[in-house]
Amino acid sequence: MPNEANTNGPDRLAATLVLDEPVTRVRLVSPARAKALGGLGVRTVRDLLAHYPRRYIDLSAKKTVAAARIGEQCTIEGSIHEIKLKRPRPKLSLVEIALVDDTGVLMVTAFRQPWLMDSLKAGMRIAVAGKLEFGYGFKRMTNPFVEVVGEGAGAAAGMVIPVHPATEKLSTAWVRRLVGNALSQTRGACDPLPLSLRAKYRLMSRQTALACIHFPHAMEEAAEARRRLAYEELLMLELFLMRGAAERARGREPVRHVTDGPRVRALASALPFRLTDEQAAARDDVLREMAAPRVANHLVLGDVGTGKTVVAAFALAAAADTGAQALLMAPTEVLARQHAASLGPLLEAAGVRVALLTGATPAAERAGIVARLAAGGLDVLVGTHALLEDDVACANLTLVVVDEQQRFGVEQRACLLAKGAAPDALYLTATPIPRSLALALFGDLTLSYIRHRPRTAAGRTTKVCPKQERGRAYDAAVAALSRGEQVYVVCPLVGKDAGERDAAAAAPRGAGADADAALHPSVSIEGDGDLAGGDNVAAATREAQMLASTTFADYAVELLHGKMASAEKQQVMDRFRAGETQVLVATTVIEVGVDVPNATVMIVEDADRFGLAQLHQLRGRVGRGEKPGEVFLVSASASEAALARLSAMETTDDGFELAAFDLSLRREGDILGNRQSGASVLKVVNVVRDGAIIEAAHADARAILEADPNLEAPEHRPLAREMRIAFSGESARTGG
Ligand code: ADP
Ligand code: MG
Repeated sequence: MPNEANTNGPDRLAATLVLDEPVTRVRLVSPARAKALGGLGVRTVRDLLAHYPRRYIDLSAKKTVAAARIGEQCTIEGSIHEIKLKRPRPKLSLVEIALVDDTGVLMVTAFRQPWLMDSLKAGMRIAVAGKLEFGYGFKRMTNPFVEVVGEGAGAAAGMVIPVHPATEKLSTAWVRRLVGNALSQTRGACDPLPLSLRAKYRLMSRQTALACIHFPHAMEEAAEARRRLAYEELLMLELFLMRGAAERARGREPVRHVTDGPRVRALASALPFRLTDEQAAARDDVLREMAAPRVANHLVLGDVGTGKTVVAAFALAAAADTGAQALLMAPTEVLARQHAASLGPLLEAAGVRVALLTGATPAAERAGIVARLAAGGLDVLVGTHALLEDDVACANLTLVVVDEQQRFGVEQRACLLAKGAAPDALYLTATPIPRSLALALFGDLTLSYIRHRPRTAAGRTTKVCPKQERGRAYDAAVAALSRGEQVYVVCPLVGKDAGERDAAAAAPRGAGADADAALHPSVSIEGDGDLAGGDNVAAATREAQMLASTTFADYAVELLHGKMASAEKQQVMDRFRAGETQVLVATTVIEVGVDVPNATVMIVEDADRFGLAQLHQLRGRVGRGEKPGEVFLVSASASEAALARLSAMETTDDGFELAAFDLSLRREGDILGNRQSGASVLKVVNVVRDGAIIEAAHADARAILEADPNLEAPEHRPLAREMRIAFSGESARTGG
């Protein structure tokens, strides 16, 4: 650990300035190496320091071949007895290594890494880290992390070897060395975190944290370093978001809405049902924010069917009671119409003047609506993107409601907000965003969760089914069909290359998966987005034909795949809805909004290819009505992690709980389809696991800005500077 501080003024300044110089400033960074670093996104010295190890090999956790237990994650060191390249199939290479130590032989198999043949030779000492397996009489590791040890092994500081992301042109060992140089050349640089905050959470100095994340002596040191760096990233992000919000609110007079007026009360008594406790609480939250003398920014989160719309209705009525106007925007024509049809009569009965505007509204009618809106003759306008057009102008807009807000971009939301002076905003979403993540994405947000659906639907059961037992799933399907019910079969990957993909997909998950996940929130183990590639369409077609002629021979089977024209898809869906076909084989995610109450069984083949959020959405198609549903998740995976992840689907039916399991959700910014949110500067933060740090940073940022809104105090100036640098880099990155 480097000795920190006792650096004097000029040195500190010089070291701080080096951070933002080009990476060529670092010793041994030649133009060629700078170019290779550029390929890794590293341009400045600061970038190099933030090029954190992807994982670590912990040699202190080293085991002998004899002592290592099957199923355990471990590191084994030994010498290479024999190394061979094999090509079992034309497109598949594997390197097989027989590794020996004093106690036995370990067989190592590395798929698709033929270059290992260039760097490894018989007789070399290497350490391999991964999960120990057993097969064909040997202890084995598949796709472990491999590192040369002993002489020439690079500048590893101790028992922990950092593994930095590298390229063909620049090896991990070289990256490690260059990072080491950058660290020593920036020794003494200013730490932007005020001492008071460092003391409060007992955080390492930045210099120490950087040294420890790159070259830890023990894994605990790396974890402490990560905690410090995560806190710093989050504090910067929260400050940035809060300052942005303050900027937008400047000079605007927020509206204090009347929230217990006649229309709100009339709406309450006109409702055909009683609000659930959670709905009532969400309504109270929204109305409290609207009544407060600040610009509200409220998000209501609830799974599909939890009844978010009616909560929004109260907000709309409150705007009308205030003598002002509200816009409600939905992402599709169907949804906008549905809102107008369900809310329209209720609101009208409560004395609210409502209209609907979509792309399909006839021109004459549209002109009338636009004129009424501009003259204040309308209280609420419900619509689609059609609301965004320039000539849709309000007399006095004080509330904007965005339904399924994740479907809209930042600009679209901003455009809607710009139609009023300082309107309150209410967002509704079914995306299960953990509270901490929502805070990270919108520093100035208030939230309500609705976790339970109002009526208890018949519900459904979910079972994970190993491939060899999938017969059980198809038995259940046939039983349902014989009762006159219908069945979905979802098969994302039934192509002949599925086996190969298994091998490829296993590769990045090998060694140190835990350290990896902790450091790199962006690891995704979700299936690839395009699940309907050409081969798969052909294979799914065969699968559908096969099912039609065997298991489901007595029933009508149809295929739905992503490459179909939308009219064709519609026809297939219509026939299924009408009950003309009983089995729907789909290669692609069945579209949101599909609702066939008579469909009760869903079989998802290769379920491990999907993210949990996707699976949850899929299974939402059955068990919603009066008949209970059965969901079978078929998986051929032998990976314990994959199976554990799937079994989370068995234990909970709560999309929000699932979110906490789902690595795919850790891809922060992607969730809101919104890279500009600022979240993409997060490098070490794990938005699911670091909830406590996110909340702490959120509270601290708020306190700092309350005391010093422009970050002008001497102890805050370094923060302001870092924030500017972090987020100007951000715009450069997202712009490209
Ligand atoms: P979402 O949260 O997915 O937008 P909706 O607002 O569309 O859900 O509500 C789903 C259905 O539940 C609607 O038909 C709505 O009328 C109904 N609903 C909402 N709240 C209640 C309630 N408290 N009791 C009974 N039905 C309700
Ligand atoms: Mg809805």
